[in-house]
Amino acid sequence: MQSVRAIFRAFSLLCLSAPLFLDSCATSPTGRKQLMIVPDSEVNQLGIQSFDQMKQQVKISHNAKQIKFVQCVADAVIAAAHGKPNIPDQWEVTLFNTPDVNAFALPGGRIGVYSGILKVTKTDGQLAAVLAHEVGHVISRHGAERMSQSVAEQGGLIAVGAATNNSPYIGAALGLGTQYGIILPFSRTQEREADEVGLQLMAEAGFDPHQAIELWKNMEEASGGNRPPELLSDHPSDPNRIQDLESHMNDAVARYEQANAAGKAPHCPHP
Ligand SMILES: [Zn+2]
Repeated sequence: MQSVRAIFRAFSLLCLSAPLFLDSCATSPTGRKQLMIVPDSEVNQLGIQSFDQMKQQVKISHNAKQIKFVQCVADAVIAAAHGKPNIPDQWEVTLFNTPDVNAFALPGGRIGVYSGILKVTKTDGQLAAVLAHEVGHVISRHGAERMSQSVAEQGGLIAVGAATNNSPYIGAALGLGTQYGIILPFSRTQEREADEVGLQLMAEAGFDPHQAIELWKNMEEASGGNRPPELLSDHPSDPNRIQDLESHMNDAVARYEQANAAGKAPHCPHP
C-alpha cells in the first residue's frame, strides 16, 4: 500500500508541475489545476446508482405545489447549464419529504431537494442559488476530483469501496451529503469555486444574483437554532463567503441583464 501511495503522490505532483505530462490533469472552470484519475463515465454512473438507492431509502414528497416549484427552478438552472462541462442532456429532479435543510446535485444528472430547505429559501431566486451552487460542483467535476484525491491519498480505498458497492461512502464523495455517507464535506477551495460558478449560472438562468447573498444570510440565521442546516456542514461556510460573492457580483449582474434581455425571466411562485 505504501508504494501505491508513493506512486500516486508522485502522480499528483507531476500533474501540478507538468500539466502536459499526463492526461490525468484537468483545469477547472476558474482555471485551477485538478488531479483526475477517475473517469467521468464511472463517476456519472456512481452518481446515478447512489441516487437510485437513496430514492429507496428516503421518503419522496407527493406535495404537488412544492414539486412544481422545485421543478420550475431546477428546469431554469439546468437549461442555463446546458453545454457546460460534464452536464448531461437528461436530468431527474426529486423532492424528498424530510425536514432536513439540504439539497444536492450528482454527476450523471440527478438533483435531490429535501423539503426542509423550502423554509429557508424564501424565494425562487434563493432556491436557484442553492441548485446553481450544487450544479456548480458538477460542472467543476468536484466529485471526480475528490475521488481522485482519495485514490491518491489512500491508495485506492474509495475505489475498493466502489467495487464492493459501498455506496454511502461513494455518495458522500460525490456530494450526496455527509448525512447519508461518511464525513467528507467539500473542501473550502471547491466551495469557493462552486459559489463563483453557481452565481454565474443562476444569473445566466435569469435569476437575480443578489438572491444568493440573501440565501447565505438566511442559512447563517437558521444555524442559530437547535437544528443547524445540513447544507452548511456539507458545504462548509467561509467567513468571507458573502464578501467573495459580492466580489463577483458585477460580472453576475451583467450575465443576469443579458439573460433578461434574451427573454430568460423565470417566475416560479414559492408555495
Ligand atoms: Zn458546496
